[in-house]
Amino acid sequence: MQEPNWEVLRVPLSWSVEVFFVFRDGKHIRTWETHDKFAGLQASRRIAWAYHYGDITTRDSSGLVIQGPADGPVDVRIDTCTSGPHLHYQAQQPHYPPTRIAGLDLTQLGALKFVKAIFRHRSSGKDLQRVLGFKLLP
Ligand SMILES: [Zn+2]
Repeated sequence: MQEPNWEVLRVPLSWSVEVFFVFRDGKHIRTWETHDKFAGLQASRRIAWAYHYGDITTRDSSGLVIQGPADGPVDVRIDTCTSGPHLHYQAQQPHYPPTRIAGLDLTQLGALKFVKAIFRHRSSGKDLQRVLGFKLLP
């Protein structure tokens, strides 16, 4: 059997996507991105995102993991909410701006690279800073 050849005729230019990876040890990864159209072009760009790894805190009525509370536990999260890209590490506060992060450009890290780094952290036991390639500056 051969898969049909799907051809998209009208590509969506605005969309959001949320993906969860749920682990049996009570941790999860949540990635969320929203993309929107460039004015005047038939092209889109990522305009807001959140890549989160930490304890599972919240499930819906059918048992599916959903986004936890804003003050919930976090191992690491990179997001753009409330301001420009910033990082949370081992706690909700502080928000580390790019000026306090060495070795990682928060605007260049995509969901796939984040997910791969978390899997590498989980399988190797290597520190999150090491697998994501950043150091926090004073
Ligand atoms: Zn944040």
